[in-house]
Amino acid sequence: MKKIVLIIAFFFSLTNIFGQTNEPKLKISHLTGDFYIYTTYNTYEGSKIPANGMYLVTENGVALFDTPWDTTQFQPLLDSIKLKHYKDVTICIATHWHSDRTDGLEYYKQKGIKTYTTKLTDDLSKKNNKKRAKYLIEKDTIFNIGQYSFETYYPGQGHTEDNIVLWFNKEKVLYGGCLIKGAEAENLGYLGEGNAFEYETTLKNVQKKYPDPKYIIVSHHNWNNINSLKHSIEMANELKRKNRK
Ligand SMILES: [Zn+2]
Repeated sequence: MKKIVLIIAFFFSLTNIFGQTNEPKLKISHLTGDFYIYTTYNTYEGSKIPANGMYLVTENGVALFDTPWDTTQFQPLLDSIKLKHYKDVTICIATHWHSDRTDGLEYYKQKGIKTYTTKLTDDLSKKNNKKRAKYLIEKDTIFNIGQYSFETYYPGQGHTEDNIVLWFNKEKVLYGGCLIKGAEAENLGYLGEGNAFEYETTLKNVQKKYPDPKYIIVSHHNWNNINSLKHSIEMANELKRKNRK
């Protein structure tokens, strides 16, 4: 009997420690090879919205793409990565100035992680009192980290003025951030700082430059449907026509 009580108490303590048996605050999913998607959540207009970022495990540490939207998860993400891969995050790149991408930049900078945004993102972060990176990318740049290589690409205005995408040529992974919406998305989401007229052209620039992605990672929807970019272009086309009337 005592044993059973102890076991029950143990499971209850687990539930309390993590407090996330049913609703984890941080979810990590394997994408392909050394690529992983991490998801945190926040409430937007009354509903719980997921925000996906990505990380890549290399011989030279872990590269993090965007920071958690849930500000309580900056350290848990680092801890989970360490526990899972026995490696530290060494570099972090944020893909536009909104909080769901940049909020952790300062925290990670203090941890000694090399944080990057574009110069344009930094200007907007400064203007809007957002967290800023230590290093700035002046133009589209190729990064070499460990055995991996990827490039940053600024396709023009869309979700925001400064949104960039990342391309991993060998693995054909297109990291679209908030610029690209999921194949099931009903609209292009928050456009308060977006560009309804340029959005379609910007997405078409991405499609032209990277015509054959194997994976397209989007911020707020499932990333398992390759039609996300095509669907986003259709929505952007509609948006443009609506705005013209
Ligand atoms: Zn977003």
